[in-house]
Amino acid sequence: MKTIGIIGGMSFESTIEYYRILNEMVNERLGGLHSAKILMESYDFDIIANLQESGEWQKLGEILSSSAKKLENTGADYIMIATNTMHSVAGAVQNSISIPLIHIADAAAKNIKEIDCKTVLLLGTKYTMKESFYTKKLVGEYGLNVIVPDEAEMDIVHNIIFDELCAGKVLDDSRQKILEIIEKYKNFGAECVVLGCTELPNLINDKLVFGIPVINTVYSHCRAAAEEALKTSCL
Ligand code: GLU
Repeated sequence: MKTIGIIGGMSFESTIEYYRILNEMVNERLGGLHSAKILMESYDFDIIANLQESGEWQKLGEILSSSAKKLENTGADYIMIATNTMHSVAGAVQNSISIPLIHIADAAAKNIKEIDCKTVLLLGTKYTMKESFYTKKLVGEYGLNVIVPDEAEMDIVHNIIFDELCAGKVLDDSRQKILEIIEKYKNFGAECVVLGCTELPNLINDKLVFGIPVINTVYSHCRAAAEEALKTSCL
């Protein structure tokens, strides 16, 4: 089995899910007491979130690259960045190592294609929804149409992520607000909703909402990584 290198802790609320799901997926395939082989770098998220807020993406790229190198040097066969937002620096991270990086948007796109959706509603942090690093991939490489919420709705989603979900608070009221956004854009033509933030599945864990499929990017990402881990049977 290959060794997965996780760059996590962004936030730990979702990294916990990565750890659980990866182990469950490997165990489901191999049975017995088998579990995933994982190395992890886990950050103090407060520092990362502050750097995001002040736009220090180059510095963030250097921090994540240094972790990726450490994981490579200690035996990881490939890397996962366990958050959508930090894929903003995925290019820099990939360039700093000689092992592959499994990109979360590639994994999500694979899932979207499997269910035959063309027009997707993307929900995530304001960085993921507003900047081009994520949508460019979905549109340019996979030919999808991406809808993002309006400015006020982006603020609502972003604040729910940072003020609540990353702090372990899962509130019914916030779930309702997100559902209202999904319903609105379903009526504007969204055929599925991409939970492009790794904490959002802690709030919305349904497979279907208002009759449209929900793409859980933690699940998509873990599935791609678990498949890769099991490509070779050597221990
Ligand atoms: N984990 C979140 C994501 O998937 C947000 C936290 C972050 O900004 O890294 O985008």
